[in-house]
This record gives sequence, structure tokens and C-alpha cells, in this order.
Amino acid sequence: MTVLSGKRILLIIGGGIAAYKSLDLIRRLKERGASVRGVLTKAGAEFVTPLSVSGLTGDKVYADLFSLTDEAEMGHIQLSRDADLLVVAPATADLMAKMAQGLASDLASTALLATDKPVLIAPAMNVRMWQHPATRRNRAQLEADGVLVVGPNDGAMACGEFGPGRMAEPMEIVAAIERALGEHRDLPPPAAVQQLSGPRPLAGRHVLVTSGPTHEPIDPVRYIANRSSGKQGHAIAAAAAEAGARVTLVSGPVTIADPDGVTVVQVETAREMLAAVEAALPADVAIFAAAVADWRVARSADEKIKKDGSGPPSLAMVENPDILATVAQHTEQRPGLVIGFAAETETVIDHARAKLARKRCDLIVANDVSPETGIMGGDRNTVHLVSPDSIETWPELPKTEVARRLIAAIAARVTR
Ligand code: C5P
Repeated sequence: MTVLSGKRILLIIGGGIAAYKSLDLIRRLKERGASVRGVLTKAGAEFVTPLSVSGLTGDKVYADLFSLTDEAEMGHIQLSRDADLLVVAPATADLMAKMAQGLASDLASTALLATDKPVLIAPAMNVRMWQHPATRRNRAQLEADGVLVVGPNDGAMACGEFGPGRMAEPMEIVAAIERALGEHRDLPPPAAVQQLSGPRPLAGRHVLVTSGPTHEPIDPVRYIANRSSGKQGHAIAAAAAEAGARVTLVSGPVTIADPDGVTVVQVETAREMLAAVEAALPADVAIFAAAVADWRVARSADEKIKKDGSGPPSLAMVENPDILATVAQHTEQRPGLVIGFAAETETVIDHARAKLARKRCDLIVANDVSPETGIMGGDRNTVHLVSPDSIETWPELPKTEVARRLIAAIAARVTR
């Protein structure tokens, strides 16, 4: 027996080159005991044939909203409710936009709107389309609606570009389906599930977290950055989501996975991070765990700077905006609780105190990041919680546990 034994998956195949991987996905699901019904969008049928889909599912392919026989035998509403989970793979930019808007203009979008079951999407599109503000908005909306997302992955794309946009591999989608079915066994859709389980002291609150480094370009191939894995910031975002908060995680470039149940906005530079943070306000709590580069090159070069024999280039630098200080000093939209980090290599607490006053935040999480501590990139952390009137020192803990304790301390202040 696997989680998938006897489960009914409605697989909606959108129009993208990655549709061929969905054929393999059907095989993998069936090998694990699931039954699969295929819905092919009009664009999807340009990439894979109805015959290949029905050959693999062992069922007919559902494609036309107004097919009278289908309506008589199985209405589109029935189709989506007869499943345990709806999977959209590939989820194109167009399908995501339709879902976010609640359009019901073809069988796929109608089934998605009519369902009362969990929905998992595996986006696949050109990197620029994925990074476009419209797609980011749609993704954030879908996640807020409780839609689960797997991928996309980074890599070379069929269109010749490189970056995030490749559909997750079939086995990654299978794993996400297993997680979704394991977590949501016999329960209502994800948004409702989130409100049902466990103690959720931050339910109804919006928590904003920054994480990871920023990359400040020198030229198209070089950049300035701080060392940061994003582990601590991502763990904080995950812990806030566990505590019931709606979480926006604004992350610089990292190689770790997005936390579950969190809206992630990916940025590169400090200025992009500030813009994303301001766009995410208002928030009840803001936690600035990102290692933001303090300076950037005044004018990054459009072409790669060459070694032309005249010696190294001199780079004029300008200061980046201080995101934490900007938000802590907002007159209209200052979050109720603003928390900063102080990564120092010496006199940690003195620096934290000074930072608290200078940036006007409410709490500083201070840690010693001198190389011998192994904190940078490691899984453990020793921190001091510094407020204007107290210092609390915690023992060395896994970063996930630091995150949970910090969220508990925040919840105590927010709900006091
Ligand atoms: O001044 P310093 O970089 O040490 O301050 C660290 C704190 O300030 C962290 O919380 C960091 O996320 C935040 N910060 C920021 N924007 C900057 C620099 C730091 O939000 N440009």
C-alpha cells in the first residue's frame, strides 16, 4: 500500500512543451496504485495527443466543455468532485491567470473553479513569464487561496533561456502529490485545513520576512553579495506559517527550497527587496533576516568588464537603502512589531543595542557569525534577543528551533 493506492487524480494538462513529462507522470501515478483521469486543454492538445493520454490513463480524455455525452454521463462539476486531488501539470501562465481570476472559460478552468478538493499546480513557462509581476501576483493569489505549488526548477529551457521555469520532474510531482494526499487525507481543501489543525497563535496576522543575500551586479556576470544561506530566514517564515500567520517571504537568491504554505517573492538586489517589502505592507510583524549588501556599484556595466591590460577597474560604490530602518520608520505603514538581525563578529550585544536605537526597531536577534562559530551556512545558531529593556540569551539550537522560539516570543508580544 502507498499513499496513492486507490486515490483518484484528475490531471489537467496545459499547453506547454513540458506536457510530454505529464505522460510519464501518469505512468508513475498508476504504478503507485492511483487512478488518473486526464483533462487536456486546447493548447495542451497541441503538445500531446488525446490518444497518448487515454492510452496511459486507460480512460477517455476529457476536453470539451460542451460535449453533450460528457455532460450526460459526467458533468464537469462531477468530474472535479470525483477526484481526491486535482493536479495541473504543466500549469501555464495562462492557466494560472485563469485560476487566480476564477475564470471558467473551458473544461479545465471550469473543473478547477467547481472543485471542492485540494489542487496542486506544477508551473512551467519561460523564465521571464515566471518572473513577471503578473505571474507573481497570480501565484501569490493562488497560494493564498490554498493551492499547492511544486516547482518550477531552474535550468536550461526549451526556448534557449536559463532560469526558473522548468516544470518539476515527474517524481518530484509524485512526491508533492503524496505529501498533499498524506496531509489532506479526507479533509477539506488546503485553506480550510490550515485553519483546522494545531494551536495557531498568529492566525489572522500577516507576517513579512526577508531572507537570503542580495546580489548587486557589477556587470552581467559578476556581483557583490554577503554570505547567507537563507536557512534562518526561511525557517522563521515556515514557523510563522505553522503558527497560523499569512506569511510573505521576500527572498534573495538562495538554493534552499521554498517553505510550505508561504508566499515567496524572489528578488535579486537590495532595491528590489525594498520594493517587494513595501508592496507586501501592511503587515502585523516584519522580520528582517536577510543579509542585505550594504553597498552596490554606482553604475553596473551593461557588458562584461574585460581584462584589457590597464589594471583592475575601480568600482565607485553607493549605499543601498536600509530596508529594516526604512520600514521601522514608516509613518503610515509601520508594522506593529519590527525585528532586525545583527550578525556580528565581535562585541555582539553592544552592536545589537546600538542597532536597535539607530534603526528604531523593537527587537534585535543578535548572533556571533565569526568563522569559528560555523553559523554561516550551518544548521545551528546561538542568539541573543535584545530589546530596549532586556537581553535574553538562548542556548545553541538548530535554526528551526530558534525560528519556533522566536515566533513564540513574537506571538506572546502580538497577542499580549
Ligand atoms: O546594519 P546591519 O546590516 O548590520 O543590520 C542588520 C539588520 O538590518 C538585519 O536585520 C538586516 O536584514 C537589515 N538590513 C536591511 N537593509 C540593509 C541592511 C541591513 O534591512 N540595507
